[in-house]
Order: sequence, then C-alpha cells, then structure tokens
Amino acid sequence: MLTNRPRGTNDILPGQVERWQSLEGKIRRLCREYGYGEIRTPIFEHTILFNRGVGETTDVVEKEMYTFMDRGKSSLTLRPEATAAIVRAYIENGMYGQPQPIKLFLLGPMFRYDRPQAGRFRQFHQFDVEVLGTRDPLLDVELIALANSFCQQAGLKEWELHINSVGCPTCRTEHRKGLREYVYNVRGSLCEDCQRRLETNPMRVLDCKNEKCQRLTVNAPTPVDYLCDTCAEHFAAVKRGLEEMEVAYQVDKRLVRGLDYYTMTAFELMVPGIGAQNSIGGGGRYDGLVEACGGPPTPGVGFAFGMERVLLALEEQRGEAPNTAGLEVYVGTLEPGARIPAMKLLNQLRSLGIAADMDYLGRSLKAQMKAAGKSGAPLVVIVGGDELGRGAVTVRQMDKAKQEEVSLDQAGQYLLARLVGMRHKVEEW
Ligand code: AMP
Repeated sequence: MLTNRPRGTNDILPGQVERWQSLEGKIRRLCREYGYGEIRTPIFEHTILFNRGVGETTDVVEKEMYTFMDRGKSSLTLRPEATAAIVRAYIENGMYGQPQPIKLFLLGPMFRYDRPQAGRFRQFHQFDVEVLGTRDPLLDVELIALANSFCQQAGLKEWELHINSVGCPTCRTEHRKGLREYVYNVRGSLCEDCQRRLETNPMRVLDCKNEKCQRLTVNAPTPVDYLCDTCAEHFAAVKRGLEEMEVAYQVDKRLVRGLDYYTMTAFELMVPGIGAQNSIGGGGRYDGLVEACGGPPTPGVGFAFGMERVLLALEEQRGEAPNTAGLEVYVGTLEPGARIPAMKLLNQLRSLGIAADMDYLGRSLKAQMKAAGKSGAPLVVIVGGDELGRGAVTVRQMDKAKQEEVSLDQAGQYLLARLVGMRHKVEEW
C-alpha cells in the first residue's frame, strides 16, 4: 500500500504533463475568445449540494460519491462534477445581480467511486463550461460550437456530435406516461436498474446499455415525440443555428438526461477507438437547477469534457506525443574547477529562457555526454580546459559531429540564436 497509488488514480509525469499543459493552454485561449471567465471552486462541498444538484436518483449520488464527515461535524463530499458547485458559487456570490448571462469555465479534478477501466478513473479531470441567465437557443448553439471547436483545436481528427431535446417538465410528464404504458407489459423482463428507474427516473430506461432492455424498448416513445410548442421551437432553433454555423450533428432521440431540472437541449460527443468509454464530453440545458439549489429561477446550460479521455482519443488518432520534457542545453564540465563557471553560465542561460542543466553527480565528461544524450538536449556546452583559460567554451550540436568554440561572454546569445527552429514543439502534436 505504501508504494501504490489508490486504485483509479494516476500520476501525471514529466513528459506527459506537457500534453496536459498544451491542452489546458488551448482551452484557456478558446474560452477567452468566446468570452468565458475562469472559475475555481473548492474540491469538496457540503454533501447536500450534490444530493440536490446532481440528483438523489442518479448513479453518481447513489453509488459513486466520496463522502466523509468533517471531524464529525458535517458531511462533505469530494466533487463528482462541476455544475452543482458552479451553480452554488453563482448563487452565493450574487452573480445573478450582475449583467447576464454569466459565462464560466472550470478545469480541475473530479472524484467518483466507480469500477476503474480504460478511460474510467476514480480521480479524473474535467474541462467544464456553464452559462447562467439565458434561455436563448443561440446560446445553446454557441456552447455546442465551442465544444466542437475544442475537439478541433485539441487536434482530434474524428468525433461525432449527438443532440436531442428532453423537453420541459410539462412535456416530460406526458412522455413519462407514454413510456410507462409502452413498457408496462415487458417491465418484468427489464434489468434491475431499469425496473428501479421506471419508478424514479423512467426516461433513463432509454439509455440503458443492456442489450435486452434496448431490444425491449426499441420503439418506445422518446421525449422529442412529446415536445410542447415552446420546446419544439427551441429545438428547431438550435438545429437551425448549428446548420448555419456548419457544425455537423446527428439527432439521437434516445439521448437523455434523466433529472427533472434538465430541460430541452442535451448533447454528447463521442469518438471511435477508445473502448467502451467512448463519450469524451456531454452537456445540456438545466433551466430548473439554480432554483432547485436555492437561487432565483435562472436558466442554465453547460457541458463537461473528460481530459483523460480527450488525451486518450488524441493518442489513438495522432499516435504517441513527442517527448517534450527534454532540456535544450546540457552544460558539461571537463574538470572539477570548471563547475562554478559552468553554474554561472547555467544561470545566465536560464535567465534567457533556455531550459538548461548540468551534472550533479561528479561524473566523467564521457558519462556526462551520455546523460546529455539521454536528456534529449539538442545542444551541449563543454566548460573547462584551455578554452576556459581563454574565456571560451565549446558548443556541440548533438545530432551532428560538429563543434565550435564560442566566447563565454557571447555564449548565451549564441545558444539562443542556435535554438531557433530547434525548440520542442508540443503545440504541434
Ligand atoms: P458527466 O459529468 O458524467 O456527464 O461526464 C462528462 C465527461 O466526463 C464524460 O464524457 C467523460 O469524458 C468524463 N468522465 C466522466 N466520468 C469519468 C470517469 N470516471 N473517468 C474519466 N472520465 C470521466
């Protein structure tokens, strides 16, 4: 136990972390262009927020939350998702009093106790976006376009966007009735989860992954069959907007989000080839949530992507990322007396923004060159010997058997110029 991380968690090591940083950089740029401000909320919240905000009858709340007592005083939960926390922050910080809509994004870890498998972890990371304060269907269009741009800018070559409308509580009451009637005769043959869902959350029967349930409900009524005029118009406007914006989509009538305060638009983004967990992101409208969480009636819409799954999909579609953790310049020393001048040079290189390092194990020059090779640094500087006596150093380009003498005073500027075009390019992965 002492040397094993908890199941379902990951260490993100140097060499991998650059891919995260690159993706996060793209997210921050994209969100700035779309006018979304970054918010950071606590990693844990009062348990009641998620019971209310995620919903008592969801798998997340029923089975997957990391809940603990705060020194025996109150029940806290590691956040399993960001929407409820952002809604809480919106209410608590009086953001409803500011000009609407409020457009926010959040990057950070989420926690769910689930059976780990490829693409499913107990600590994972989300890129989450929420907009509060408008029901305008064009905002749904903007949000879906943002999700689509994210896939594009992240570098994915292939993904699918599925959309649907689950209507409002009024249309849902009708749909629920139709659905219950449809499955009445076969309900005993549905899986245990679906039998329970029929009581608590009937719409979820439509997205059950069990083959038998799918077969038994293949022609079951779907929410779009029951949309009221307002919801039907909203859905039509979203579809029209996406077409105008040239965002490719498919309507998936069985795509649902089963909670009462989830309304109208629902969408999901999928990629092939990453296994059973092929949903990289999803979202939708939740016009009843702010009120359910104790705020003034306020419409909202949002989505979340799983960062691990996006990175998995990138690897699947683009191959392994180049190693970009490497150094740019390795400073080697000929004799112990050269170590202090080498360290001064190192200091100068670093202040010029060059990633540079030297030996701290007292190794021979030969061993240092081996270490330089492993580090991936394209340039090596050798300090010491007669050259140092002349106020000079030797610069070697690792992929060519070529070396030059450069004055120590000029070395920094010289190396900077040589590095142009050689620098690691994680952005291009
Ligand atoms: P959800 O909040 O359940 O709608 O999930 C939104 C996205 O978060 C999913 O599409 C996944 O990409 C990601 N996600 C959800 N649960 C996990 C998990 N246990 N491990 C990794 N990624 C997850």
